[in-house]
Order: sequence, then structure tokens, then C-alpha cells
Amino acid sequence: MNTIYQPADEQSIRTAAALLKEGQLVAFPTETVYGLGADALNEEAVKYIFAAKGRPADNPLIVHVADKSQLDDLCEVTPEAEKLMDAFWPGPLTILLKKKAAVPDVTTAGLPSVAVRCPDHPVALALLKESQVPVAAPSANRSGRPSPTTAEHVYEDMNGRIAMILKGGDCRVGVESTVLDMTGSVPCILRPGAVTREMVAKVLGSCTVADSVMRPLKEGEAAPSPGMKHRHYAPKASMTVYVGDHEKVIAEICRRYDAAENAVILAMENDIPAFGARHTLSIGASPEETAHLLFKRLRETDEMGVSLVLAQGWEGEEMVLAVMNRMARAAAFDVVKL
Ligand code: AMP
Ligand code: MG
Repeated sequence: MNTIYQPADEQSIRTAAALLKEGQLVAFPTETVYGLGADALNEEAVKYIFAAKGRPADNPLIVHVADKSQLDDLCEVTPEAEKLMDAFWPGPLTILLKKKAAVPDVTTAGLPSVAVRCPDHPVALALLKESQVPVAAPSANRSGRPSPTTAEHVYEDMNGRIAMILKGGDCRVGVESTVLDMTGSVPCILRPGAVTREMVAKVLGSCTVADSVMRPLKEGEAAPSPGMKHRHYAPKASMTVYVGDHEKVIAEICRRYDAAENAVILAMENDIPAFGARHTLSIGASPEETAHLLFKRLRETDEMGVSLVLAQGWEGEEMVLAVMNRMARAAAFDVVKL
């Protein structure tokens, strides 16, 4: 398949919208990561998403809408969910709600809930408005690879496999949306993102975080969110993340680097001098900057062909949870506290 690869402008967005309506796949930028979109109500089109990504069929998709008025046919919107939409949409908050019959089972992987979100990106919003269809869109990477945060990443993974890629620059946030389950008695975060537990609790009074967010699932344990049981974000090299005492972390990373054949350090910007002549890649100077850079850096470690990635991690709350959830998964939960 010949993939159209064009900067997003009025005309290319019109072309993309027409392709979506025909049941084709279009990748587009959002504020979190690039999405791989299909008409969420077109069963055949949604099946192509799973095929193009190599995604397991039991991993449900997020349905993107231009605004909350588009939800009427898709799900049952509760008053609490509406409060969240008013507070955080457009934005990086995905809400799980009871699905209606119009949403095909392939889109939700057979689950009774559907995940919905309105993205905060001018290109994504223009595409959703122009196409007039709800758009099912997981991240536009091949399954198992880090999510794409630039159009070039999407091209690497999807050229020849989908109808079109809309180029729209780097994604601002850099990690995927918060997934919040609103189908239970207490709002519960299944995947942390830039809309934090603290921010949701301010609006609703309470919000919990699923405890499987920061640990591997146990043998035979049911995943609250199917995405959690799949291998994610992993670089080709093996990876260890270090947190805790600052001096000890730097000393231990240096020791392991020096003992390895071909390692690279994902270092906080201000600590780069402390690693001397060792090969470092910056992960910025704040959790927000790390979120923005992490997936790009993981792809770079693949290109460099290193055998070991040693990363400095963050400790704390709010955005730290989103960053450390991805780092821990990339490292297959090899997180060392010193
Ligand atoms: P992606 O769009 O690739 O970031 O993946 C979307 C993620 O949202 C999935 O991996 C699931 O973990 C989560 N998700 C989507 N729909 C549901 C649902 N109905 N129930 C639970 N989790 C969901
Ligand atoms: Mg994904």
C-alpha cells in the first residue's frame, strides 16, 4: 500500500477525513502521542487497526470525539463523567463508560465499557470535525514498540501499512492519556497520564489508582485494563531504572556502565556532567520533560544498537506516576531503589 505522508493543512485534513469515512486508516497527531485512526463504528475498518499494528485483539481502543455531544450514540454519560469532560476536555483524559450497542465489539475488545476522549490538538480536532465520525485510535506504533511522538516515528512503523500519515510536529505531552474507569463506585485510574489523580480528585472529591499501575501482574491475575498485560514500550536492549539517593544512583549507574560492553545512560539534564565522558541521552530536567522525551529516547537506544540502558527515574506524585509507569514497563519492572 502506498502511504500518503503529508503535512497537516486544510486540504490534507479533508483528504484524511474522506479516507476515514471510506474505512481506511489515517495516523494523526494528538497532544499525547500520534494516533492510528479508523471509523470506530465500522467493524472492518477497526479490524485493520489491529492488523496494521500487530495488536492483540483483546486490547481495546480509545474512541476519539470532536466534543461531548458526539457521545450520545456511543455510551451512557453519567453526571460525574460530564463534570470531568467540562474540566479536562479537550485534553489527555480518557473516560471509561458503559457502551451502547452502536459501538462494535471489536472496538472495545468485547468489553461492556467504551473508552472515550476528546484530544487537545488542532489537527486531531479538525480531522474529527471534518470526518463527522467517532475515531477509534490507539497509538500509531507497531505493537510492543514505544509509542510515536513524532511523524517520523509513525513513518518508521507504519509506512506501507496504512492509507495516510498527517504530519503535525512533536507531541506536547509525550505519554498516552490518563485512562479513568468511571463504571465503578469510585473513579479509578487504570493508566496514569497528564491528567493526574490529584486533578481528578479536585473535581470529583475522590479518585484511586489501580495498584497494578506500578507493578507487574501476578500469575493468573486479571488485568483491570487489558493493555496492562501486554509487553509495552520496551527497547531492544535490557534496561534498569534507578531511583532514591541521588549520589548513590549516579555512582551505581557509572559502575554498571563501566562494567558493560555497550551501554547508554538516560540522564537528567543537570546530572549529565556527573557522568563524565560516558554516553548519555538527556531525559530533561523535570518529570514533564521526561514524559515529552522518553519514547523518542527509547527509539534512539534501539537505533544505536546498545545492549544496556541505564536510566535515572523520578520519585514523587502527579506527573511522576505517568512517567514511572512507562519507565518501569520499558524496563520490565527492573526498578532499583538505592
Ligand atoms: P492505546 O490507545 O494504544 O494507548 O491503548 C488504549 C488503552 O486503553 C488500552 O491498552 C487499554 O488499557 C485501555 N482501554 C481502552 N478501552 C478500555 C476498556 N473498555 N476497559 C479498560 N481499558 C480500556
Ligand atoms: Mg499503545
